[in-house]
Amino acid sequence: MKFFHTPKELNESLKVVDIIEYIIDIRMNLSQANSFITCLLAQNPKDQNATTLRGKTSSINARFESAFKKVQKVLVNTNQHLWEGILDTEVLNNYKFILNEWRKKAEMHLSDEVESLVSDLMVDGYHAWGQFYNSLVNSIRVNVQIDGEKSELSVGQAINLRSHPDEEVRKESHRALEDKWNEQEELFAKILNHIAGFRLQVYKKRGLENILKVPLIENRIKEETLNAMWKAVSKYKKPFTNYLNQKAKMNGDEKMHSYNFWAPVTKGNQKIKYEDAVDFILEHFSQFGTELESFSRQAFDKGWIEAEDRPNKSTVAFCAGFPLSGESRVFMTYGGRITNVLTLAHELGHAFHNHAMKPVNGMNKQYPMSIAETASTFSEMIILDAAMEKAESTKEKLFLLDEKLKRSVMNFMNIHSRFLFEKKFYEERKEGIVSSLKEFLLNSTFQRFSVHSLVTDQVIHQQGFFLMIVLPLS
Ligand SMILES: [Zn+2]
Repeated sequence: MKFFHTPKELNESLKVVDIIEYIIDIRMNLSQANSFITCLLAQNPKDQNATTLRGKTSSINARFESAFKKVQKVLVNTNQHLWEGILDTEVLNNYKFILNEWRKKAEMHLSDEVESLVSDLMVDGYHAWGQFYNSLVNSIRVNVQIDGEKSELSVGQAINLRSHPDEEVRKESHRALEDKWNEQEELFAKILNHIAGFRLQVYKKRGLENILKVPLIENRIKEETLNAMWKAVSKYKKPFTNYLNQKAKMNGDEKMHSYNFWAPVTKGNQKIKYEDAVDFILEHFSQFGTELESFSRQAFDKGWIEAEDRPNKSTVAFCAGFPLSGESRVFMTYGGRITNVLTLAHELGHAFHNHAMKPVNGMNKQYPMSIAETASTFSEMIILDAAMEKAESTKEKLFLLDEKLKRSVMNFMNIHSRFLFEKKFYEERKEGIVSSLKEFLLNSTFQRFSVHSLVTDQVIHQQGFFLMIVLPLS
């Protein structure tokens, strides 16, 4: 760092390359360590060693972030003419896109001291609140009665019961989950308030009025694009509402109950054994392409997937990339339902994305959230479409079509609700603490402009909406 200064001549591009390679190296190592700790904590949320390690990497990460911002700042001060020149040199051409992005982002940077203070405070502030949320959810135990027998389940296991064929089981697990969320409402509200409050303070210092500015830059999309997307989603909501109403009718209900949303549309479907799910996925992946199939086979054979159904593990399914070793790990709770098979295919899609990115330079590898779900959703669709084609009876086809539509409702309606919720929440948080989440959800203007336009209470019962919004996505 000490020897790095704003380039004055074209031949200094070599020094720039050196520092970029140095940054890539630190980033890859940090990412490898982070993924490892994430996996340790997922398989045993009470692992104290892993928690200590998380603390260590968080502070290394903060130091790295503040040094990284300094480098960016020194570099982007290059005069425009020379900037264009050095970006055109052979050694830097590969980094052109990312370096121009740094220059654009630098407009928001504060002084070195303040940037470094923000990075340091994030460890025990912003990030700590996120980690606290995860620990809280992982520590929750849900008591559910199935066939007269009481079981103590993790949140992940209780969520899996949403697609149980028996309505009573679905209803019971839904109620139990909702009770737990109601019990913890105050804590959830505090966490959300502090995460939003932290962000808003930093945005204020950066002079950012629009709360979407940073997410838009991070996701490399324009606000018009985002708005156009939501406009298209809103315009085509009707077929989904019709579908939900029809499904309710098939179940003998006037309106869709939230505990029935994930219900299988045809009764009596058997549990799918894990081994059968693996064969099913491999068979259909192979019809799409040999690389996807052989990669996934390798993931299964080498034990990259932790899918055991047991209580003391994390709730959220995820795929962790290990950039140094060029491997991935998939984590989930497999409960034997078609939704679990699709989650498995989804996470394998993320892993395949990592695999496909292997030859890409470390600096150009990072992709935003707006891209992240493409490969995974695509993998799910491969499995669903292939299964639909193979289905022999109308009953089977209907079952799969329902699975497909549920996912579309999640993508088009649930995600839209979450977006509107967050947008409105941040606006209200600007004015002060939002003390009651439930009140905010049920009584604020948010109700008027989102719930009724998206998932009207004729379609999904309001309370379920509360549950839908606070539960994490994978
Ligand atoms: Zn995903």
